[in-house]
Amino acid sequence: MKKVHVFNAGPCLLPQVAIDAAVEALKDFKGTGVSLISISHRTKEWESVMDECRANWKELLNIPDDYETLFLGGGASLQFLCAAMNFLEKKGAYLETGVWAKKAYKEAKGIGNAVVVASSADRNYCYIPKDYEIPADADYFHITTNNTIYGTELHGDIDSPVPLIADMSSDILSRRIDISKYALIYGGAQKNAGPAGVAFAIVRKDALGKVSRYIPTMLDYRTHIDKGSMFNTPPVFSIFVMNETLKWLKAMGGVDAMHAIDVKKAETLYAEIDRNPFFVGTADKEDRSIMNVCFVMAPGKEDLQDEFLAFAKERGMVGIKGHRSVGGFRASLYNACTQEDVEALVAAMQEFENLKK
Ligand SMILES: *Cc1c(COP(=O)(O)O)cnc(C)c1O
Repeated sequence: MKKVHVFNAGPCLLPQVAIDAAVEALKDFKGTGVSLISISHRTKEWESVMDECRANWKELLNIPDDYETLFLGGGASLQFLCAAMNFLEKKGAYLETGVWAKKAYKEAKGIGNAVVVASSADRNYCYIPKDYEIPADADYFHITTNNTIYGTELHGDIDSPVPLIADMSSDILSRRIDISKYALIYGGAQKNAGPAGVAFAIVRKDALGKVSRYIPTMLDYRTHIDKGSMFNTPPVFSIFVMNETLKWLKAMGGVDAMHAIDVKKAETLYAEIDRNPFFVGTADKEDRSIMNVCFVMAPGKEDLQDEFLAFAKERGMVGIKGHRSVGGFRASLYNACTQEDVEALVAAMQEFENLKK
């Protein structure tokens, strides 16, 4: 296969061992002679995968016993609505840090009273708002910890006087989190935890059951807690590959070890962006994401954008075109992306500089 460096924003690059295990299981799932995508989810062979995935997830993220982990269909986008359905009684409060945060807010607004506490829309979401007060009468405060499109990230767990809900689609498993600070954490797996098709929700059990509305069965977290994420047919293929990805992450030393690797990758690329006169970063330095690195051509050099894209592509770079709402470039440095991949991109940027200066 052609040597490429994959910086896709999602679905993401996954470790080769997980892909190899998936290929094998597609042919023969655990020696049953049946393909992974044809087995019954009511077999003990499948249930062992489900249990293992939950256990690996719990271990990697240090999830306390009063929380449940769910593996669900519908992506993070359905979780926008689920979160509001299960937590919104009088008022939901939102931190608007980008398109995904806005979409989460829209779903809450659709079923009740929701407010935006602070927004960084004034500068196209290139920073995380800091001066705001979380309303004490809100049922919850909703944050997006990593803003995939803009390359901004909240670098630690915040304190909230009301239950905290976080969309962690694109930075889960990249740093240690204090789960006990959150009532609910959710996300789509396809940014850093596995393939598309499965979403995760980590929910504190005693935070549920506090709203008076009827919650449709499939949107009610309690339905899925009661049935161990198997109320209906789970996305077996996605969960299988996610579990293989978690096994790989454990072998790599877990979340703390991965965090050090992720920080080094991001520092390497940001250092080049800051040094190279042809490029500039788009996010405020203090809020820069370690997962999604966004940059553009330096002022006056904008017309070189397509040329650099083609130049980088020739050298094996895949997926570095920025999101249309920011433009320029975005390199997503999810866990399976290596220091070597980042160094190949840096080398391409340096070569381009030498060619053009
Ligand atoms: C990609 C993304 C989503 C949407 O995820 P889907 O699983 O495609 O619905 C939501 N939030 C964030 C932060 C994302 O990066």
